Amino acid sequence: MKTVFVVGAGPAGLYGANKFAQAGHQVVLFNRDIKPGGLAEYGIYPVKEKMKSGLRKQFAKILSQPNLDYVGHVPVGSGDAVTLDWLRELSPAALVCAVGAQGTKKLGLAGEESRGVYSAKDFVYHYNLLPPFSSQDFSTGKRVAIVGMGNVMVDIARWLLIDDPDRKTEEVIVVARRGPFEAKFDHKEFDHIEMFLDRKAFEDELARVKENVESVGQDLSQLGAATFPVLAKPAQETPGPRLRFSFLTSPQAIHTDAGGRIDRLTLTENRLVAREGGTSAKTTDRTRELEVDTMIFAIGDVVDPDFGLPHASGAYVTNSDGADPKRAAYEVFDPKTGKVAAGDYVVGWARKASEGLVGIARFDAEQGAAHILKYLEAAPEKPSATPAEILAQIEKLGIEPVTKDDLARLGRAEEQQARERGLPSFKFADDGTMLAAIAEEKSKAGQPNLVEK
Ligand SMILES: Cc1cc2nc3c(=O)[nH]c(=O)nc-3n(C[C@H](O)[C@H](O)[C@H](O)COP(=O)(O)OP(=O)(O)OC[C@H]3O[C@@H](n4cnc5c(N)ncnc54)[C@H](O)[C@@H]3O)c2cc1C
Repeated sequence: MKTVFVVGAGPAGLYGANKFAQAGHQVVLFNRDIKPGGLAEYGIYPVKEKMKSGLRKQFAKILSQPNLDYVGHVPVGSGDAVTLDWLRELSPAALVCAVGAQGTKKLGLAGEESRGVYSAKDFVYHYNLLPPFSSQDFSTGKRVAIVGMGNVMVDIARWLLIDDPDRKTEEVIVVARRGPFEAKFDHKEFDHIEMFLDRKAFEDELARVKENVESVGQDLSQLGAATFPVLAKPAQETPGPRLRFSFLTSPQAIHTDAGGRIDRLTLTENRLVAREGGTSAKTTDRTRELEVDTMIFAIGDVVDPDFGLPHASGAYVTNSDGADPKRAAYEVFDPKTGKVAAGDYVVGWARKASEGLVGIARFDAEQGAAHILKYLEAAPEKPSATPAEILAQIEKLGIEPVTKDDLARLGRAEEQQARERGLPSFKFADDGTMLAAIAEEKSKAGQPNLVEK
């Protein structure tokens, strides 16, 4: 039995940790958030309750293994009290990083920090109640531009058009760099919002880009079958907010009102050009103005550069491209030294930022785990710190770690809140309240408020 540290308890960290625990190793799973689940808990659309609760059950089963310890509420990073080197000092046989893609892919525009301009990840964290985003200002107005044309755009439009309890949105405008055939969302996701599509405006927009998309061999009569099945249905005039598309356009400048909130976007018009295997967008010198009071960019994410691993092109650098053919694709590779860091691994969205659904992150982590298990067979025996020693060391840093027992206490407290409020479920939205609820559950059971040893 060897000790494996896994950093990050999203789907990749949890499914990877499961493999190590099942193989009989001692696993310590560190997580920034109090609760496990990552984007499965705090990204997947709130009303997908069946999917979320199914995943929660699987995660609870993984965490229930006696040789798997959970240490939540512990951010790891070069600027944090717990750094990767601090963890390495505790001598794990392998260190597996599954921290997802927590950085923001910037648009590189002046005004990006203005009020009313948000990254999709932060916005999604806000409505899914992840602290501290849950209590930050993500106010939206009447006209919201969403940049990007994938499933995350659809989730956000769905929130704004249907489920936001403070709904003010009258119009969502999807700003897409390329054309209607390059939409990346799944049809069944778009079904949720298709009734808001302003069909007249959509037809006008198609007429605007027709000549260009046909010049690259795309046939607009096939658009319904390809990316917009709604076009096969008769247009419905549902009253209420509208969904519009601005194809072949990219944000060029953000303008603000006297209060510093976005009030207008200048968009560059693009030209679609054919390239091997597809299309690409080329900017032109033509521009259009779009009056909006909110802008959310849903263009994928990058890894957090301050985590402490070498990074390039938005992801942590691994041996993925086989720079060292004798080593696994999941091993951390330092381009400065040209060497693989033995025993350090990356899996999930941390290795391939924003790539795929939970199933893909799981597959990546389980494939990575298979390599790591082989490495562990031959890895030198090390006197690794025990979970109890680790908890004690973390407390000395002034951090209040959250254990598996604490998660059970938190679950009970949230169930009680749900009962009292007559809701099907309830989620605390800030760390302080969660820690207080855990402490209260402990004191109810007559236990001192100390970390179990
Ligand atoms: C808006 C949105 C909607 C989605 N909807 C769906 C859907 O409907 N169905 C589906 O199958 N997939 C969906 N996905 C994709 C799915 O969420 C991802 O495939 C999956 O969560 C990636 O898993 P991961 O473990 O690599 O990363 P994450 O889920 O991001 O998990 C990372 C974990 O690492 C922790 N962490 C981060 N930084 C640190 C740090 N510095 N120190 C310690 N811990 C850290 C975090 O707390 C988190 O627990 C969606 C994604 C988004 C963004």
